Amino acid sequence: DDVDILGSVELKDVSFHYGDGKWIFEHFSLSIPAGQTVAIVGETGCGKSTLVNILCRFYEPISGEVNIDGREYRERTCHWLHSRLGYVLQTPLLFSGTIRENIRYGRLDATDAEIEKAASEANAAHFIEGLEHGYETMVGEGGVLLSTGQKQLISLARALVADPRIMILDEATSSVDTETEVLVQNAVDRLLAGRTSVVIAHRLSTIRNADRIIVMDAGRVIEDGTHDEL
Ligand code: ATP
Ligand code: MG
Repeated sequence: DDVDILGSVELKDVSFHYGDGKWIFEHFSLSIPAGQTVAIVGETGCGKSTLVNILCRFYEPISGEVNIDGREYRERTCHWLHSRLGYVLQTPLLFSGTIRENIRYGRLDATDAEIEKAASEANAAHFIEGLEHGYETMVGEGGVLLSTGQKQLISLARALVADPRIMILDEATSSVDTETEVLVQNAVDRLLAGRTSVVIAHRLSTIRNADRIIVMDAGRVIEDGTHDEL
């Protein structure tokens, strides 16, 4: 179990619904080779964030398999999974604590230098250093108010610190100003490079940079190909 993974991801015949709701996925299959960046697009409500929930094992399939490097993830511990698979969610959530603690959450043994390097790579360092208490600024409930864009940059820094083999990114839909947008885009490019990545894409640039684009509709894949093919 100490052997590191290559990072292939496969959903095989996955069916899922929330609670007693309608089926979101019925016999859904998707295979992603190690190292590939896949952008997923589709109308609101078609199941993109639900796919993220399943990949991150926040919810488990009702039937079917999720295999990481060919082995069902339910045979692993959650710790095993989350030290190899990182995520940035659509609504970035910060817990009550300092910015430093929020970034360190990606890997608890990270040094201050590693945290600041990740913040810099995520284009978050500049705004953090502009705050009166810098990395020691309290955020989350009762802390300073940050914009959605700033929260995204902190989430990206957290994911960079964790340096997972597999990255799941649900791009935020809420608009940020153009300047922050460029910062987020560059940070996202850095985050995805060299990993198996599944990105729920809302930005054209993310889609353009992906190795493969999947178009979903009502829990099904309706198109699957490269940017040039589609
Ligand atoms: P968007 O583009 O707006 O983010 P999406 O493709 O991510 O949409 P999902 O969030 O996966 O869509 O939602 C798929 C369906 O599942 C919707 O009908 C939604 O109402 C429902 N749903 C999503 N999350 C939950 C939940 N936690 N509990 C119950 N139903 C949910
Ligand atoms: Mg969503």
